[in-house]
Amino acid sequence: MTHRREEHLWIPESDLDGMSIDTLAVRAGQIRTGQLEHSDPIFPTSSFVYGSAAQAAARFGGDEPGNIYSRFTNPTVQAFEGRIAAMEGGERAVATASGMAAILSTCIALLKAGDHVVCSRGVFGTTNVLFQKYLARFGVETSFVSLTDMEEWRGAIRDNTRMLFLETPSNPLCEVADLAALSDLARAADALLVVDNCFCTPVLQRPLSQGADVVIHSATKYLDGQGRCVGGVAVGSAKLMEEVYGFLRSAGPTMSPFNAWVFLKGLETLPIRMRAHCDNALELAQWLEQQDAVEEVFYAGLSHHPQHELAARQQDGFGGVLSFRVRGGREQAWSLIDATRMISITANLGDVKTTITHPATTTHGRLSDDDKARAGITENLVRLSVGIESVEDLKQDLARGLAALAAGA
Ligand SMILES: *Cc1c(COP(=O)(O)O)cnc(C)c1O
Repeated sequence: MTHRREEHLWIPESDLDGMSIDTLAVRAGQIRTGQLEHSDPIFPTSSFVYGSAAQAAARFGGDEPGNIYSRFTNPTVQAFEGRIAAMEGGERAVATASGMAAILSTCIALLKAGDHVVCSRGVFGTTNVLFQKYLARFGVETSFVSLTDMEEWRGAIRDNTRMLFLETPSNPLCEVADLAALSDLARAADALLVVDNCFCTPVLQRPLSQGADVVIHSATKYLDGQGRCVGGVAVGSAKLMEEVYGFLRSAGPTMSPFNAWVFLKGLETLPIRMRAHCDNALELAQWLEQQDAVEEVFYAGLSHHPQHELAARQQDGFGGVLSFRVRGGREQAWSLIDATRMISITANLGDVKTTITHPATTTHGRLSDDDKARAGITENLVRLSVGIESVEDLKQDLARGLAALAAGA
């Protein structure tokens, strides 16, 4: 009797070539041990042993591949890296302790004092702080531009610009950047295009295929999707990732094996979760538009959204985050939020549970009034990260507060 796949205990990478993202999410990257476990194993060990002093020397010297120490080699973390790299279509991924650690590691590894960064204005608040406060101290200057204004991007480029950094779609107004155009601009300037792909995940958008050099994730959000662990990852060419890996090895903002295992499990259901998030978000966006108490809805899936066509071309779905302005100001926005009973009041996003937040006083509270105005973060703006509950139950939870607002309460 012959055994199937006698030579290899896991699926060789070449077999995965050309497979759909649904398959990669479940199958790519698994490292199966001699125990022939079906589910991915966890390796909660800080160090690894060697068969001899000579082998230890060969591993440390880089002459022999193999595990050394979990700050930079852990099989569970490597399995997660292999899977997300396959899903993003990148040569290599480097997993980190958080999304911010992925951004920091990428910047420190690929920039130096005297370099200049152009960054979209609407990025995650902490990313803003990282560029403006900390990287600036080490001689990396950042200019901020409108995500969707190509002229502003072009005008901000200097001789020493080495990186363009952005998130698309933006948080919370769901503006969409033209990745192919920005990639052309980056290439002409001899700069790297770095895309934080948190909102879309590789299921809805693969920036590397549109010309980006590095993709960043906060794995904390959709990749886990169930609010359990903090983690991050950078994906790109083997050459760029070797630099990021070198920094990680030296500085240590490493992903723990337990978290990597949770993210591996999260990735298995990512494609079906993302489709459920998208379906619910589109239906809620259309429903919100019909409500008297709602002034304006921001979601790229709506046909009147300014970048609807671009999003339809560039993405395989419009995502799970939307925002809307209620009639009134902070008081009305807060009363709507407080009238929900099931939806979680939290600034987190990308969870199977729907979350509601008031950006002006939470996620974007640190912005100056000028910056808020420029970013469209008004007091009557509410953001929803739409989960996978029944959309009818979500409507019901929002309807109570909306009815009160419409009645002028
Ligand atoms: C949350 C988030 C981050 C930071 O990720 P952490 O895992 O919290 O460090 C970066 N970018 C975006 C778009 C985010 O939503």
